Amino acid sequence: MIKLSTPIENVPNIGQAYHKKLKKLGIKTVQDLLFYFPLRYEDFSNIIPISQIKVGEVVCVQGRIIAIENTQTFKKWMTITEVEIEDETGNIKALWFNQPFLTKSLKEDDFVCLAGKVTLSKSGVYLNNPAFEKISEMSDNDDLTHTGRIVPIYSETKGVSSKWLRYIIKPLLEYFYDKLPEMLPDEIIKKHKFLPTKEAIWQIHFPESFEHADAAKARFSFENLFLLQLSILKQRARLLQKTAPVCKMDASLMKQFTESLPFQLTDSQRQCAFTILKDLEKSAPMSRLLEGDVGSGKTVVATMAALSTIKNGYQVAFMAPTEILASQHFKGISKMLEKFNVTIGYLTGKESVIFKNGKITEIKKKDLLLELQFGQIDMLIGTHTLISKGVLFSKLALVVLDEQHRFGVNQRAQLVKDKKLIPHLLSMTATPIPRTLALTVYGDLDLSLIKEMPKNRKKIKTLIIDSEGRKDAYEFIRKEVKEGKGVFVICPKIGKDDEENNQTAISGSFSVSNYNPTLFGVSEMKTVKQEYEKLSKEIFPDLRITMLHGKMKSDEKERIMQDFKKGEIDILLSTSVVEVGVDVPRATVMMIEGAERFGLAQLHQFRGRVGRSDMQSYCFLFTTDPSQLNRKRLKAMIDCDNGFELAQKDLEIRGPGQLYGAQQWGLPDVAMEGMLNIFLVEKTRQAAKEILEKDPELSNHALLLENLKKFKQKIHFE
Ligand code: ADP
Ligand code: MG
Repeated sequence: MIKLSTPIENVPNIGQAYHKKLKKLGIKTVQDLLFYFPLRYEDFSNIIPISQIKVGEVVCVQGRIIAIENTQTFKKWMTITEVEIEDETGNIKALWFNQPFLTKSLKEDDFVCLAGKVTLSKSGVYLNNPAFEKISEMSDNDDLTHTGRIVPIYSETKGVSSKWLRYIIKPLLEYFYDKLPEMLPDEIIKKHKFLPTKEAIWQIHFPESFEHADAAKARFSFENLFLLQLSILKQRARLLQKTAPVCKMDASLMKQFTESLPFQLTDSQRQCAFTILKDLEKSAPMSRLLEGDVGSGKTVVATMAALSTIKNGYQVAFMAPTEILASQHFKGISKMLEKFNVTIGYLTGKESVIFKNGKITEIKKKDLLLELQFGQIDMLIGTHTLISKGVLFSKLALVVLDEQHRFGVNQRAQLVKDKKLIPHLLSMTATPIPRTLALTVYGDLDLSLIKEMPKNRKKIKTLIIDSEGRKDAYEFIRKEVKEGKGVFVICPKIGKDDEENNQTAISGSFSVSNYNPTLFGVSEMKTVKQEYEKLSKEIFPDLRITMLHGKMKSDEKERIMQDFKKGEIDILLSTSVVEVGVDVPRATVMMIEGAERFGLAQLHQFRGRVGRSDMQSYCFLFTTDPSQLNRKRLKAMIDCDNGFELAQKDLEIRGPGQLYGAQQWGLPDVAMEGMLNIFLVEKTRQAAKEILEKDPELSNHALLLENLKKFKQKIHFE
């Protein structure tokens, strides 16, 4: 007997050749097959008399085959199968290309239903490559699968067609119609007037109408997001039961610290710092995401948390995604904490350095690790090296992660080697997270926002520049450089060879890498190397120009960044490695080549590299793509300097599937789509909360719990 858990290998209709192909689509069991939802539908529901067809329309007709034959075309070595059918009102031809086997299944006098586009050619009107289905006779056929109805189109892989999937799925749906268990609690179904599972699953595959399909989809979107919320809320509840080190806030110490800064904290910074310091006083582990636009000053807030932790006798781990950033933090934070008698270590794959008694000195890695283990180092700053094996903290109480967003939760787990005390987690990001994501994928983190920028900042002027404007832009750049200011130039690629370009993923920002440029019809891509040749030889032979890209050794990158900071380089030409965090206050121009190739959130990140002082700054978006869509996107950059709005727009234009890492989340399409809908997200969160309040372990919802377990096995956010 077939069950939902039956492997596809044991389903009689599925030949061996299909086993592997289905697995490629993620289909292993009957259940997977039933829950393999169509991508879209084709509307073949309106069967019309042959006499009423019009050229150019997609139609569905029924009739008796009066002629069928294969012919060869010698020009292109093609087989054409030509069929002619008739009904009471007339007749029409249908043509298929390269499907000679059709004459085996279709014979004269068979009744068929054909659905496809009516096309006109020299030889007359015909249906071009229509979907077809044999029918018993010309009466009402309400049991059609491939024609005469709204037909499901699935995401296909080589050798698995939608037609085949329909042929396999439909009988299974019939068989399971009354056997599908209802996972959602009754009260939820009633409250939201959802279709019950058995009805919804039928309607999502073979809908009676588009309204039915939508209703079914709404149910499954809800269901998936509901499971997601349950898993997040449960995980959170579990974490809150664990114990973290309690770090009491010392108000006078914090005052002393803020007074030692060369600037005043903004109100937002103050508020965020306060919330975080209060979190650290609790014995439940903090999981907080500190969000603030680029340049809003997150580092200083994190430094306050670190100082408080250290003065309570504990250690801090501070991790950044790149060596450039880690080193920048090490220097900046050492400086800020200079007068507070703190020992700070710096560790990357290659370097180990220590800051002690106001001095930075090199130290053997081995010794650094020993000091760390004996608790003589208060804070360790570095890259991913911090989670490698030999790095042992003696009393870790706070983990700070810069620009790692969501990935933080897992890294905290990796840093904790003894499981008794869980350190607090502070994750920081400049990538604005749209509210829907904040409640779903990031839903187990508390959110703090730095809403305002330091007061001295001016709004960055953003301009879209096409080929005509290029000369003027160069002149402008020259003027800025002559005034002693720095210029960034960003190019989409390093060199011509694609292999050189894998580094874009470095940024760890979800806005970036899998961006699909072909979407915007771009012709040529500027590369850093080509651009370097051009700028240094033709345009600015008199200026100091240097390249920076992810393939370079880190000390080289570091040296270049320092030179640029100091003003020894005028123009820094770079790939997206500068995207996150880099702080060069003297830079006032951000010039982006091939702006059409980057997502809005990413462009916004680039833009945030300038405007970090009281000087007026500029962002030039160079583009050669005249399409409406591109114009619209880039215009959003001019209209909007709020990262959240841009992120929301980005999400709407590109869909969540394009977000960095989203492919790996393993969320079904219905859930990804649902994530665009904030109302739905809020509803599911509310529903999950309500049910967990009454039944925290879901012990009264066995089926739900079982599904939750399965769901969790499929998703991976880290
Ligand atoms: P981000 O939030 O992008 O990480 P940073 O922490 O790197 O920003 O801060 C950007 C720059 O602004 C740094 O040079 C920092 O010293 C400075 N800064 C931070 N807070 C303030 C403030 N309240 N007023 C003026 N400058 C500030
Ligand atoms: Mg930063």
